[in-house]
Amino acid sequence: LVSRQMKKEDTVIRIGNVEVGGDRIAIIAGPCAVESREQAMTIAKEVKKYGATLFRGGAFKPRSSPYSFQGLEEEGLKILAEVREVTGLRIVTEITSPMHADLMFKYVDVIQIGARNMQNFELLKCAGRMGKPVVLKRGLASTIEEWLMSAEYIAAEGNPNIILCERGIRTFEPYTRNTLDLSAIPVLKQLTHLPVLIDPSHATGIREKVSPMARAAVAAGADGLMIEVHHKPEEALSDGPQSLYPKQFGRLVRDIYVIAPVV
Ligand code: PEP
Ligand code: MN
Repeated sequence: LVSRQMKKEDTVIRIGNVEVGGDRIAIIAGPCAVESREQAMTIAKEVKKYGATLFRGGAFKPRSSPYSFQGLEEEGLKILAEVREVTGLRIVTEITSPMHADLMFKYVDVIQIGARNMQNFELLKCAGRMGKPVVLKRGLASTIEEWLMSAEYIAAEGNPNIILCERGIRTFEPYTRNTLDLSAIPVLKQLTHLPVLIDPSHATGIREKVSPMARAAVAAGADGLMIEVHHKPEEALSDGPQSLYPKQFGRLVRDIYVIAPVV
């Protein structure tokens, strides 16, 4: 269902008045995790001012350590819904268990499947049945073929609104958190009609490396970007070192606009 052979034209996904996969670059921005109402609202207003059209923020966080901040859970979802009300930005957040499907359905616009859950097939089927657009991140050590088969799980449940997101893969190179596979963009453009996002924040893990890779991604044909932004990254409860300051995000959007039109 997701292959180019099945459908020649690019899939364009509409989320409110925003399009992903159309002529413009979609920019999803926000903190790694929702930490408080003030934090989420402050960052949302900043990223909106600089051109983001979708807001991201985790309420259920899949952390490597059980002792790390796990997210505000339902309280976090309520804050996200409030952000949408106040700013008009549509909300993207990660689902970590089918148990949370009803809650998620109530509060958010786009469901994210994280890298660690790319092959959680029950979760994929669940997301497929929810009927909301899905951002499907590439697994940390998954091939493009495996990734597309995971997209197929969602599509097979009757949900064609799938956005692929490359977020770096594990290699032997330790200078960046992961290695951004930019060649995935042209490869996917040939194999599938689905839109492709790049997340240079998780791919590099380093604030200074985010903007160059974002520009490269857009130059290589990405349909959009997912960028972590925090107004006080030193105090962030997760992924501070890779989060852009709002002003840096603003400069990035301006640079992207030179390469391709932004939403
Ligand atoms: C995230 O987007 O905050 C996240 C946890 O990403 P990934 O699943 O790519 O690690
Ligand atoms: Mn993160």
